Parts: sequence; C-alpha cells; structure tokens
Amino acid sequence: MKRSEVNREELSPMMKQYMEIKDNYEEEILFFRLGDFYELFFEDGILASHELELTLTGKNAGLKERIPMCGVPFHSVKPYLEKLVNKGYKVAICEQLEDAKNTKGMVKRGVVQVVSKGTFVDLEFLKEYDNNYIGSVLDFKTKYILTYADVSTGHFYVCEIPYSREKLLSEILNLNLKEVIMADNTDTQLIDTLKNNYGIGMTISSEYLEKDYQEIYEHIHDIYFITGIKHLLYYLVVKELKDLSHVKEVQIVSKEDYLSMDIHTIRNLELFETLRLKERTYSLIWLLDKTKTAMGSRKLKYWLQNPLRDAKEIEKRYDQIEKLNNEFIIKEELRKDLYAIYDLERLCAKVICGVLNARDVVQIKKSLQVLPNVIDKIKTLNFSLNIDSHQELYDLLDSAIDDNPPLSLKEGHLIKEGYNQELDELRNIRSGGKSFISSLETTERERTGIKNLKVGYNKIFGYYIEISKGNIKDIDESWGWERRQTLANCERYITPLLKEKEALVLNAEEKIIELEYSLFMEIKETIKKEIFKLKNTAEEISKLDAIIALSVASEEYNLVRPTLTTQNIIKIKDGRHPVVERVSKDQYIANDCIMDETIDTLLITGPNMSGKSTYMRQLAIIIIMAQMGSFVPAKSATLPIFDKIFTRIGASDDLVSGESTFMVEMLEARNAIVNATSHSLILFDELGRGTATYDGMSIAEAILEYISKNIKCKTLFSTHYHELTNLDRKFTNIKNVHVSALEENGTITFLHKIKNGAVDKSYGIHVASLAKMPPELLKRANEILNYYEKSNKTKQPHQEQLILDLEEKEEEKNILKEELEKIDPLNITPMEAINKLYELKEIAKEK
Ligand code: ADP
Repeated sequence: MKRSEVNREELSPMMKQYMEIKDNYEEEILFFRLGDFYELFFEDGILASHELELTLTGKNAGLKERIPMCGVPFHSVKPYLEKLVNKGYKVAICEQLEDAKNTKGMVKRGVVQVVSKGTFVDLEFLKEYDNNYIGSVLDFKTKYILTYADVSTGHFYVCEIPYSREKLLSEILNLNLKEVIMADNTDTQLIDTLKNNYGIGMTISSEYLEKDYQEIYEHIHDIYFITGIKHLLYYLVVKELKDLSHVKEVQIVSKEDYLSMDIHTIRNLELFETLRLKERTYSLIWLLDKTKTAMGSRKLKYWLQNPLRDAKEIEKRYDQIEKLNNEFIIKEELRKDLYAIYDLERLCAKVICGVLNARDVVQIKKSLQVLPNVIDKIKTLNFSLNIDSHQELYDLLDSAIDDNPPLSLKEGHLIKEGYNQELDELRNIRSGGKSFISSLETTERERTGIKNLKVGYNKIFGYYIEISKGNIKDIDESWGWERRQTLANCERYITPLLKEKEALVLNAEEKIIELEYSLFMEIKETIKKEIFKLKNTAEEISKLDAIIALSVASEEYNLVRPTLTTQNIIKIKDGRHPVVERVSKDQYIANDCIMDETIDTLLITGPNMSGKSTYMRQLAIIIIMAQMGSFVPAKSATLPIFDKIFTRIGASDDLVSGESTFMVEMLEARNAIVNATSHSLILFDELGRGTATYDGMSIAEAILEYISKNIKCKTLFSTHYHELTNLDRKFTNIKNVHVSALEENGTITFLHKIKNGAVDKSYGIHVASLAKMPPELLKRANEILNYYEKSNKTKQPHQEQLILDLEEKEEEKNILKEELEKIDPLNITPMEAINKLYELKEIAKEK
C-alpha cells in the first residue's frame, strides 16, 4: 500500500503524526522513533527492508489493511544508518521530544537530524585520515563558487573556480566531496557525471540562509563568496538541522597561495592513491604519513594537497624539521605524547552536533592529560605553536567522569564518587539496601532453618526468596510470605520487608541514573563553552604531528633539505622516486636533473620500460615535497618555486566528456599550454602517441616548439620519435637526454641511468620479448624491422623529414631574399659585388 493512497481521516493518531512529519521529508528515509525502536513505514519500509535485509511486516494503522513496516532497535541503529548513507540515501531521524512517562496522550515527535554521505558525524564511520566534505556549487556564468565544509571537524571553506567545467570537476574530485548541492539543474551533464561516474550525492536546492551564523562570514565582503556560504548553510542548517556552533569562521582558499595541480597530476603522481588499485598503500601520502594522531594525518594530507608558494613559510617547515632531527630524544617523547591524543577535532564536533557519550569524554580527558608535557617540549624546541593546557577542564573531567563508563547515558556509571554529594548519598542508600538484601539470605536461613533458601532478583518480580518444593511444608504463616512464582522445582516468595528495601534500592537507582545523566549534560555544556579553544589546540597539535611526521620520514628515507632559489634553475643530484625506491625489488638508480637558466626543456628518449616516466614523476614529486615543506629524496637539491604543475603521463583520464583518448590527451596538453607560466613545470610523456605516427609526431613537435618559444618553463618531454631530437639545434633551450640501456647478445638490460644526448634505438621488440611473446612472432617482428630499416635507407625520406625540409627551404629562401634586398646595385663596386655573390653562395651551401 502506498502512502499517497491512504485516507488520512481513518488513520490512528500516531500514524497521523507520522504522516505530517513525513510530508516534510519526502526525499529522505524517515526513521520514526517508537520506544526502543525506529520504525519505517510504507515505501520507506519496503525500500529499507530490501536494502538492509530486514523482515517486512505489517502494522495496524487504523485502516482495514495493515501497512508495510520494518524496524531497527534504536541502540544498534548505527550500522543500518551507515549502510543506507553509504548507498547514497538520506535518512531523517525522528525522535520522541518528550519523556513518555511525563506525558499524557501522544508524545511529541520531530526530526532532529538528517544524515547523508557528506555530513555523517560518526568516528567509526569516517576514515580518520580523510576529511568528509559536503560542498555547494554556484554557477555565476563567468566563474563558479565552491563552498565546502567538513561537519565532523567544523572546517568551512569557500573558493572561486575559473569558469571551466573540467576545472570544477577536478577540484570536486580532488577534495573528494561526498555530496554536492547545486542551485539549479541546468548543467545536467555535470550532475550526471558527478552522480553516475563518481557516486557523489547530488541535491538541487535554491535557497539561502539569510539570518543565523552571520558571525562565521562577517570578515568576508565578496558578495559571490557570501552567496555561496549562505547556500551551503541553508542546506546544512535548515534541511539537515545541523548545529554548526563549532564552526569558527569560513576560510577563503586562495589558489594563488598554493602550487596548483590538477586532478590528472594528482592521480598520475599517485599522491593519495595508486592509479591501478586506487588504494592508499604505495601512494606518496602512505609513505610520508608517520603521524600519530588522526588530526595530524589529515593535516599532512592537506599540506600535500596544497604545497606552498611562499618561500618563508616553506623554510619555516624546513627549520622545524631540522630542529626535530637534531633533538631526536624530544621528538621521540613527543611522538609518545601524541599517540595518547585522540581525534580532538572530531570529538569537538560530536560535542556540538553528534551523540556524545561518556567514553568520548574520557577520550577528551586522556588527550588533555598529555598537553602539559607537549607544551614543555614545544618550549624547549622554541616552536611557535599556541597550545593551551586546558587545565581546568581537565581537572573537571578527571574528577567527574568515570574511567570506564558504558556507551549508554541511561545506565548510570558515568560519574565518579566524590564529585557530587547528592549522588554519593543516593548511592549509599542503594548499597545499604543492597547489602541488607544480600545479608537477608543468611539471616532468613538461620531464622527459618531452611538451608537451601536463596534470595534472588529478576526484572519482573524484583527481589524474591526462593525455596525448593520440598521445603514448602516448613513455611510458617506468621512469616508473612506471599507466593509470587512457581517453577518446576521451587517456589518464589516476597515479604513486606523485602519489598520495602527493594523500593528503596530501585527508587535510589532511578534517581541515580537521572542525576548522573543531568550531571553529564552539565559537563557537556562546560566543554561546549571551551569548544573554540579546544579546536585551536587540535589545530596546533595537528601541525605539530604533521611536521614531526616529515622529520621522521626525512630520517627514515634519507631525505635532504632542499635549497630554494629565485633563479630559474633545477639542480638535483642523485634524485630518487621515494615510492618506487621503497617498493621495487631491484636497487633504485639515482639520477641527476640539471637544468640551468639556459635550459628549459629536457627531451628524454630511451627504450620503453627504461624509466622515462619514473624520472619525470620523480622530478614532480621532489618539487611537490619541497613545496609542502618536506625534505626531498636526493643527495642535494636546488629548486626554484613553481606556481603550477601540468602532467600528461600514462593513460588518459577522461573525467567528463566521454571523448576519445587522443582528444583527452590533446585537451590536457592544451590546458597545460594555455595556463602554464614561465614558473610552471610541464611533464609530457610520449605526447601524440594516441594518433597516427606522423600526425602525432608533428603535433608533439609543434607543442615542444611552442613551449620552447613562448612559455619557456621547465619541461620534461619524453618521446619515442627520434626525429624530434634534432630540435636542440634549432632551440638552444632544449637539451637531449636519454635513459641508457645495454644491448648484449640480443637481450637488453635497463640501466635506468639518465645520460646526455639522444638515443637512437627503440628496443620495442626486446621489450616484447621480455613480455614473453611467442618466439615465432618475435622472429617475424625482427624480419619486418629489418625490411623497414633497409627500405628506409633506399627509399624517399620519412614524411616528417619532408615536412622539415620544406620548412627549412622556406627559411633558406627568406634569408637569401633578405640579403638580396639589402644590396643596392647602383651603389656597389664590382669587387663588393663579387664578394657578396660569394657570400650568398656560401649561405645557400650551408643550408
Ligand atoms: P618508461 O616510461 O621508460 O616506459 P618506466 O618509468 O615506466 O619506464 O619504468 C619501467 C620500470 O623500471 C618501472 O617498473 C620501475 O620500477 C623501473 N625503474 C624506473 N626507473 C628506475 C630507476 N631509476 N631505478 C630502478 N628502477 C627503475
């Protein structure tokens, strides 16, 4: 039966309440709290029973037919929520807003929160080293405004994206947004791509939060930014009912401050996950992440996502690493302290907008406990970090919260003895009653002479006296025992005294639980008041942890402090690819990369599998590490500061368009050429191989010429078109290098060593033989190669050779023409004329 088909007049009062609430949450699955269960009705029930593998039953709702229903116990709701949210559903949680005990008639209910992929605040659900961002995109036709927040940490950012769908998508994927809110649905291609290709939750909402939370953006004056912030706020606050009082202020992310890398670069360099398996293991962050706290881990990731451009800031990180490397004892002690610190950032968020339990508070306490030690050591190191000791809060938590509390707040055992007098008194009463009851067994045995008499407790009958059937005859009426329960071998009785003591115990028990709960809530309020200070501490701890991680990595991987220069030179001695070096079974061959001010491009040739792309990646990684403030894998490294990195390495990654591989390759190349400045780095690996040889080669050459003439930025360009290696004659800023390989008796050994000059063989067939192709196939390939090599020598030149020759003839004609035009025949002596003629002949000969 469908919800829309129901005659609401006939419904029971509770179901009427359900319908009214559900009307406001059409898109969400509504979890409707009824006592100890969340129940789901109609279509929600059918869907959830299917997705969660729950039994679908029926409920009497006052109609002739029972309505479809399923339910989950409230105390184990988390895994169910997680499953639905992960599948992209939104869940509205409707709670009882008053205590059923104190209410006559129907309990008031209301939705207290909507949970969705981008806003789930649960420590167990979230990956500790990842942020969980939800974002809003506004399309202003000349630019996009992207606003994003992590509710689980209280970080809130806004930035401007140039008006390119590719760039916007790249940023969304780069940030790993889980959910995106857009103001209109006109860009259906973008919405489809985000939803279907990348599993990002999409919502269309055109509303803006005009009032509330203005304090978090009062420092921002740009109207576009403010509009973006209001847009995301509306969704979070009004639609999802989030409390955002842990957000201090929105930060503007200015792309100019950071080394810009697009999503292709980030993926190709395997900064956060590997290309093939999409796993963190064997990525650069996996290698560098020596942090001890979740916050530190996220901070390090942020640094790697946003390498700096400000030399002063970068040097500051180098200085700190150097200091830590020298003070290794303090460093080790600090690491131990950090290990004891929990995810304060997310715990703070739980205080505000999650379900905080007493174990979380114990974690906060334990984290604060080590702060005085940390502060001392930071002073010794002379680091400018502003960490508060939170002594008062710590003392409060230490004196108040039980060291081993249960998960539930409604079972007591939250508050320590000695914290609250009333609580202690109630506990005394309870234990007085309990000890009376437990001593009752002995006294009653003596009084009645029944040896196997027992005093027990169960939930239905409370305390009772139990005797075996054989002793029934010994009961004296004057004892006042009342029979309560008959079991197979025994009978259970109660007595007035027992009931009196029991009431005392149970009454005290109930009051204790209530009191403990309200004391806990008071403590939560106290923590709330200190939330910004706590968050600041968390931020500073995260920076400390991240820098210590870089120091540990620098020692473990033998990294060096780079020298930053304002000159346009790269001088890396014995550079290494840090991940390949760790992971490869063979010994890693270190390579120099030397590019002085006169050299902009290294044109790399070498057989397949020789290490061309590893060499290119290695340079980019060294630069990124240097600008994130880390030491680098080399013997020494002098580097300028780059503004952008562009790469075209490996397989193309078509993000949006469904274009052909070659088209994507060209789009990526164009992106680099249009946006690169003389301070950028370009890495082009085998550009042009996606199309026919001459076609691809001409394009590759034209691109190389364009970069060398017009952009003049540092570029690594690998190619298997040997014809391109002549370009160094035309452009003095291009230099040929090659990766050496040794050919002996028909087999090839890759030396992985970069050497000057170009290579003249392709070794393709050898690689095929390494790949264990069938011998007869290899034999045939060799025959064909020989044929081509021979025929090339006798036949006309390559097509590309023709193109080049034509170009040069054109040039030659121009020079001769210019020289001829310079001659004035009326003002020239016969001797001069003969000399000129000779000169012109020489020019023609040279060409
Ligand atoms: P290419 O781009 O020339 O086809 P790759 O860069 O993909 O070659 O490298 C091929 C293999 O050689 C990689 O698997 C890598 O492990 C190994 N390799 C590359 N460079 C080195 C090096 N400098 N030292 C040791 N092994 C290397």
